[in-house]
Amino acid sequence: MIRITDIIDKLTEYYPEADVDIVDRAYIYSARVHAGQVRLSGEPYLSHPLEVANILTDMKLDPMSIAAGLLHDVVEDTHSSIEEIYKTFGKDVAHIVSGVTKISVLPFSTDQQRQAENIRKMILAMADDLRVILIKLADRLHNIRTLNYHKSAEKQRSIAQETLDIYAPIASRLGIYWLKNELEEKAFYYANPEEYQRIQDLLETNQEERQRYVSTVKTLIEEKMAEAGIAAEVMGRYKQYYSIYQKMMSQNLEFEEVYDIIAFRIIVENVAQCYAALGHIHSKWKPIPKKIKDYIAVPKPNMYQSLHTTVIGPYGERMEIQIRTREMDYVAKYGIAAHWSYKEGKTLGINTENTFAWIHNLVENQKNFGNPEEFLENVRIDLFPDEVFVFTPRGEVKSLPKGATPVDFAYMIHTEVGNECTGAKVNGRLVPLQYELKTGDIVEILTTKGHEPSKDWLNFVKTVKAKSRIRQWIRKQEKERSLSLGRELCEKAFRKHKLNFSAMVNTREMEKAAEAFNFKTVDDLIANVGIGKITPLQIIRKLAPQVTEKKETKFIDRLMRPRERKRREKSEGVAVHGMDDILIRFAKCCQPVPGDPIIGYITQGQGVTVHRTNCVNALKLNPDRQIDVEWKSEEDSLFPVSLKITGYDRMGLLAEISTEISKAGANIHDVRLESRENKYIYGEFTVLVKDLPHLDTVMTRLKKILKVQDVKRV
Ligand code: MN
Repeated sequence: MIRITDIIDKLTEYYPEADVDIVDRAYIYSARVHAGQVRLSGEPYLSHPLEVANILTDMKLDPMSIAAGLLHDVVEDTHSSIEEIYKTFGKDVAHIVSGVTKISVLPFSTDQQRQAENIRKMILAMADDLRVILIKLADRLHNIRTLNYHKSAEKQRSIAQETLDIYAPIASRLGIYWLKNELEEKAFYYANPEEYQRIQDLLETNQEERQRYVSTVKTLIEEKMAEAGIAAEVMGRYKQYYSIYQKMMSQNLEFEEVYDIIAFRIIVENVAQCYAALGHIHSKWKPIPKKIKDYIAVPKPNMYQSLHTTVIGPYGERMEIQIRTREMDYVAKYGIAAHWSYKEGKTLGINTENTFAWIHNLVENQKNFGNPEEFLENVRIDLFPDEVFVFTPRGEVKSLPKGATPVDFAYMIHTEVGNECTGAKVNGRLVPLQYELKTGDIVEILTTKGHEPSKDWLNFVKTVKAKSRIRQWIRKQEKERSLSLGRELCEKAFRKHKLNFSAMVNTREMEKAAEAFNFKTVDDLIANVGIGKITPLQIIRKLAPQVTEKKETKFIDRLMRPRERKRREKSEGVAVHGMDDILIRFAKCCQPVPGDPIIGYITQGQGVTVHRTNCVNALKLNPDRQIDVEWKSEEDSLFPVSLKITGYDRMGLLAEISTEISKAGANIHDVRLESRENKYIYGEFTVLVKDLPHLDTVMTRLKKILKVQDVKRV
């Protein structure tokens, strides 16, 4: 347990003229009234106010704050009273303790309205005397450091979440980054243990390699600075788990895609050297445009100053570099406390009035807000600039990432609301589902029972929840569709062989057949019939070899031959969403080539037939069998396309047509040419091309031939 003498030593180190008497007295008083009380850790309760006071010395606060820190829980948890504190320690200490106590008695709740009220009270207390909030932050930090003694995981989680929602942003806004970072890392561990563990595991792999990388880059920067005659201290550090996690969440990235896991910092003597160092870094490594931030010329509202740049590093990787003076680095760590002037002996509130004008603005403004939610919304704009806050029709606040749409909102309410969402009203007006929500919008989701989500939504939703729910739904639908198609195909084929599919489907034999084809379940087996990977006949042959052998060879032939032939045909070139290794064939009617918009249709026993989206035949097909497909880039596949050529006959026309086709690098597959009256010719050429641009080249060449009137795709 930390001792009071250690705390006083630390205080006098940064504040030699400090009046330590009040700290001593506060300690004795606190020890007396807390006597006999015990923390969940089993330690005497006094350890808590002592640790809080110690954290306050880490923030380099004045003796009054340290004394108030030692006394912060006495009114709430002991027989002591504010009047007694007032009499014993004077007006200032009593005022701070009373402020801390007022915040403490607010019941904890995840309920939005209470949370709003909590934040409002904190902001008000902050404006009244910033030291109240600093003590509250120190109190929360010690509580989260000892959160492991809480027995209930649910309680741990909710305290941690509250820390992430309220305390860490306030610390950040006050510029006390060391405190913000520790609050976030510790709270993240309890709020989301799986993600914390996952990031830890990922960081631990290749750790040696990363260490080597850090020291290599560090040396390169040091050499560059020395060469330029700039005395610099260079540091390389891992980003915090929580900030890596936030980046993954907000930008929907995989861990591997978060490039700046390691950030470098260059500390120099003065501002001129900051800009000089930036220039030298940019001459060594190429900067990424728009990633250069000058917080020296334009400091953040919490007074943070630094130059930030992201460059393409020595291995072609992106790396983030921060450049600042030693003083700026100090401010970045201590934030508001760095602006504290002990010598003048004034209160923090007065001293920082101008620097932290935003707090006062908030307080001024709060008079204009009718209710806590409204106030909360405004406070949060200030605390979380990258989020939007919208309301349900009943007035609940929901926070969403910037750019989120009504669909994101709907999924946030409930998966079912998302799935059945057919429209949205914002502030009473109908809006498109892609509408970008703005802070303050009142959002009402219109649902229709049984409505299904659209794949297009994936193009505009922003939240991870909406994305994963929509994908999940699509996968389920595709599976169900292939299953019912597979069942239909099996029933027909079984009937043909005088077998009863529905009677056989639930037998052990069918299970064995599924296993023989390497499927886990019978449903998987049947679904694969639906997508054309295996035929019903293959199943029949497994189940009843005698039936198929004797009389059905012809039937097998008839069924198998086209399938075998199709296998040899192009089955590559097209990817079917969510399915591997599926049988593909291209429709003869519209002859799609890579680059054409395409759509697939599940065909009985023949996998997927690919049509052009605007093919008239495709439009007639059952939309239930429609499936999304896309082109895969493949080098050497050729696709047949029939072209209709019209014009007037002349000597050597046919020869010229074939020359132009081969000059364009295409082959002629088939030719039909007929002359009609008045030398009018009509020809159909089937050419083999790579893709749409290739086809365009061929057609352009043909159109330029003398006497050719028109060239069209059939
Ligand atoms: Mn406490």
